[in-house]
Amino acid sequence: MRRIPFNQPCLRSRELDYIAQAIERKQLSGGGEFTRRCETYLQAKYSAPRVLLTHSCTGALEMAAILSNIEPGDEVIMPSFTFVSTANAFVLRGGVPVFVDIRPDTLNIDETKIRAAITSRTKAICVVHYAGVACAMDVIDEIAREHGLLVIEDAAQAHYAFWNDRPLGSIGHLAALSFHETKNVISGEGGALIVNDPSLVDRAEMVWQKGTNRLRFNRGEVDKYSWVDVGSSFLPSELIAAFLWAQLQDGEAITEHRCKLWNRYCAKLRAAEDEGLLRRPRPPAEHRHNGHIFFILVPDADRRAEFLRRVNARGVGALSHYVPLHDAPAGRRYARSIGALPVTEDFAARLVRLPLHPALNESDVDYVVEVVLEEITRGHRAVHELRVGGAA
Ligand SMILES: *Cc1c(COP(=O)(O)O)cnc(C)c1O
Repeated sequence: MRRIPFNQPCLRSRELDYIAQAIERKQLSGGGEFTRRCETYLQAKYSAPRVLLTHSCTGALEMAAILSNIEPGDEVIMPSFTFVSTANAFVLRGGVPVFVDIRPDTLNIDETKIRAAITSRTKAICVVHYAGVACAMDVIDEIAREHGLLVIEDAAQAHYAFWNDRPLGSIGHLAALSFHETKNVISGEGGALIVNDPSLVDRAEMVWQKGTNRLRFNRGEVDKYSWVDVGSSFLPSELIAAFLWAQLQDGEAITEHRCKLWNRYCAKLRAAEDEGLLRRPRPPAEHRHNGHIFFILVPDADRRAEFLRRVNARGVGALSHYVPLHDAPAGRRYARSIGALPVTEDFAARLVRLPLHPALNESDVDYVVEVVLEEITRGHRAVHELRVGGAA
């Protein structure tokens, strides 16, 4: 049977060569030549005064929470439809995630619901660009400015995606990227903090280096280094940075290939959407996305598990996605929501992600589409017959 895994980490070409070079240089801890190359490259890409590589996007979000001066009881507005780290990073500082619903077109935070979530304790808005599709950054920026809030972009899925002509991750005061093996550009585990606000650069460097001014010492700006702030060890090793350097250099080609596969899914499933069998993603045409996720929404949440079982049994690695955080045990303990979150609940229950990674070709996509269409039609017919039968 043909097997199409949901994800498959792919080597480009120079990863092993760069790792060998890192070993020859005899510096394997973080902050060496490959870390510097990746950071310089990302600083140029994002027009950011400082980018710091981290061991994960989770780590970068934790740095963002420290740099936001989140104190116990401070509130951070975010979607519930996201990965746990978006919320955990702030909860670790005693902060309270405040969830608002998502938009049905982009599945991103519904910017029209943000104002109602603001209180005297609100410190920041943490947006998530789901599937590499841009949030409404103009509106969100304006709200943040009006209320003196920080904007943090969880851009874990958004490398090489844009809001108008600006890269996602270059707009908020701070942004976090992920290079986890499921993302577009990978290093196994990995991430980066993008510091767009120049006033946060010095402190970001200290938080990154265990709360010391070691980077200033390395640059000869102080004659010894010491403990000056809170911090932790957020650096990846040079081996990881070497791997990442090879991937970053190929990032545009990876994105292009993913977008080609994404567009093929979209075209081939159009008729099925017209027939009401499923709904496809609706990224706004004016913002370029990066082909990170192709998902469908099945019409009936009750039938999703059965649909997934059937396509998985035929070798197609389709997957659901987030359990909304407000509905998770820790979410109920540490966070609160603004009213009901009907779109979040409905969409999370109906969403199915289809295989999408650089090792796939167009014939793989066609096979996935064939299996999806057969199984979704079968499910649709079964429901229809049940209903007709029930009426008789
Ligand atoms: C993947 C992901 C993260 C976590 O990234 P890691 O690098 O695995 O820590 C955080 N937020 C979102 C939205 C993600 O998709």
